[in-house]
Amino acid sequence: MALRLHDTLTREKRLFTPSDPGRVTMYVCGPTVYNYAHVGNARPVVAFDVLFRLLRRQYGAAHVLYAANVTDVDDKINLKAAQEGVPIDVVTSRYLDAYHADMSELGALKPTFEPRATRTMDAIIAMIGRLLRNNAAYAAEGHVLFNTAAYADYGRLSGRSMTDMIAGARVDVAPYKQNSADFVLWKPSKPGEPEWPSPFGPGRPGWHIECSAMIEETLGLPIDIHGGGNDLIFPHHENEMAQGMCADHPTAYAHYWMHNGFLNFGDEKMSKSLGNVVLVHDLVTRTSGEAIRWALLSAHYRQPLQWSEALLDQASKALDRLYGALRRAADIEVADAAPSETFLEALEDDLNTPRAFAEIYALAARLETGTGAERAAAKRALLGSARLIGFLGADPEAWFQGAADPAFRLQVEALIAERAAARDAKDWASADRIRGRLAEMNVEVMDGASGASWRLREKV
Ligand SMILES: [Zn+2]
Repeated sequence: MALRLHDTLTREKRLFTPSDPGRVTMYVCGPTVYNYAHVGNARPVVAFDVLFRLLRRQYGAAHVLYAANVTDVDDKINLKAAQEGVPIDVVTSRYLDAYHADMSELGALKPTFEPRATRTMDAIIAMIGRLLRNNAAYAAEGHVLFNTAAYADYGRLSGRSMTDMIAGARVDVAPYKQNSADFVLWKPSKPGEPEWPSPFGPGRPGWHIECSAMIEETLGLPIDIHGGGNDLIFPHHENEMAQGMCADHPTAYAHYWMHNGFLNFGDEKMSKSLGNVVLVHDLVTRTSGEAIRWALLSAHYRQPLQWSEALLDQASKALDRLYGALRRAADIEVADAAPSETFLEALEDDLNTPRAFAEIYALAARLETGTGAERAAAKRALLGSARLIGFLGADPEAWFQGAADPAFRLQVEALIAERAAARDAKDWASADRIRGRLAEMNVEVMDGASGASWRLREKV
């Protein structure tokens, strides 16, 4: 395998070589659990899940360690808990459970580790202690701050000058800061907010130090791959790198930095503050997680992705077409599904999912139009390729019976029950009317000895 990944730090696509092929390490910044995840939050989860699956195939599942953290204490969480009058863990466990369920609907494998800030306090405090000892941090008025002047390469990851960074970070001007770009490692909690004891006084950590400490504790520094959305490059990842390098890891923090592009809604970035969010939690009640996953991977992960209902509809139709091809090829036995070379080459080229999708379509076309042996080879490659990245795992018949859309399935089943009741009452007019309604919904009803069954005709 010749996997090449785009590295934000060196600004080039580089051959991926893990430090230790027996222990490949990847970290992706995870959610702050104070609300349901929106579809933009799901983009890195799905994109890095593709990479996780590819690495597991290459190095063996036991040799790839993937950590995705959970921020379970911060201002927004504290605010929500205060509004509800409950402890913060009531809020965080509610939204973390929902997050797990929603990401699983999107076919994302569970990371190997899911460290949580509130359970990593000792490691966070120890790392701040080392930064103080190394003169890369200083205490002032109950706070501990990172001293950006102590790290000569500060700004290298994001490619910003100190002037840009000060302007871009909109950092709080505080009289106790030595440099205006300095950022918080530890701060006192406000009255009533959760706090932890520390040698620097009671309080809680800043956001950036959480990730550095969690990486060090779960995976060890330096790691092979660090990922996240490109809105995290500055200040979050710039600060993470500065902390790690100054806390006794001077050679490297992460060997490959990967960042996914924004998900846009209309002309705007999807964000909670803009109020234009589409929650995964709502989407999965009306469409299949597999279609959402397809839509999220339809653009290359580094490119912006324009989210729309039309995109989701196209994704559903694409999967209808692929499952349709599999349904028509149900007679072909496949024991040894394996991805095609063309498909792997596309993924190995910095996870080029649009090209990988084109190969999936080509394989489906060969399955539909080829001769006997060609069809078997095409089905083998189609299933091997698609399943490697989390698609076409369902039974094709089940897909056309509403696996694609749970709300639709319930609606069809309610209409079929209504029709059966009408028939029992010998109300033939109503039974026919309901059958007509189902036909309009593209549903074919088959009456049998044990009652009616149904299937969806493929959309054309
Ligand atoms: Zn992070």
